[in-house]
Amino acid sequence: MRDVTTVAPMLPEIQKLLLLQDRDQRIRTFKTELKNAPLERKELEARLQAASLGAEQAKARVRDQELEKKRLELLAQGKREQIARFKTQQMQTRKNEEFQALGNEINHFEQEVGKIEDRELEIMEEIERLTPLLAEAERNVAEARSRVAGQIADLEAKIVIITDKLKAAEAERATLTEGIDEDLLDQYNRLFASKGGNPVVPLEHEVCTGCHMKLTTQTLVRVKGGQQITHCEQCGRILYLG
Ligand SMILES: [Zn+2]
Repeated sequence: MRDVTTVAPMLPEIQKLLLLQDRDQRIRTFKTELKNAPLERKELEARLQAASLGAEQAKARVRDQELEKKRLELLAQGKREQIARFKTQQMQTRKNEEFQALGNEINHFEQEVGKIEDRELEIMEEIERLTPLLAEAERNVAEARSRVAGQIADLEAKIVIITDKLKAAEAERATLTEGIDEDLLDQYNRLFASKGGNPVVPLEHEVCTGCHMKLTTQTLVRVKGGQQITHCEQCGRILYLG
């Protein structure tokens, strides 16, 4: 238990530094958010692009199948015309041997046409399978587009708000530094930059809450005395009674 009789009122400098630290932490958070905003925007746009790519790929697969179907239709048509020509020649010939040879050709071409028709059927089934997938991919793009547009609008609104908040915090900071000893402010600024944004920390159970090291009796006495700015002997942070 802390002996309350030894607790002196908080040094006015510490009170000022704590207010300053609060503003500086907010400023740092705002700056980080503003710095991350373009990256967030890029990520949102990348998500939209991924959805668009999915739809484009689905569309390309359907288009490829349709082109292949068309190609096969033309191929089959050419072969059917050839069969018709062979049949005409067959009717015109008087040579048995030629008649036989043409018959073989006709059989061969008919088999090929059969294979092409089988392939056409497979392709039609594939197109039937792909069509709903394409529709789904296109729905996804439309959804992603409207969602991402909303998220980007939110992000832009957030940037405006944070920029305003940052300006306000910076103005407050300027006011808060007034009346703080220049050397102390300098120490504070350096510690803020080097100690991850918490240069002024309370001590708790005789431990510096900045570096979690136990403090020496001498340091504890100085902090509890509340008469002077006291630094943690391990990390250099400015200590106060929590
Ligand atoms: Zn420390």
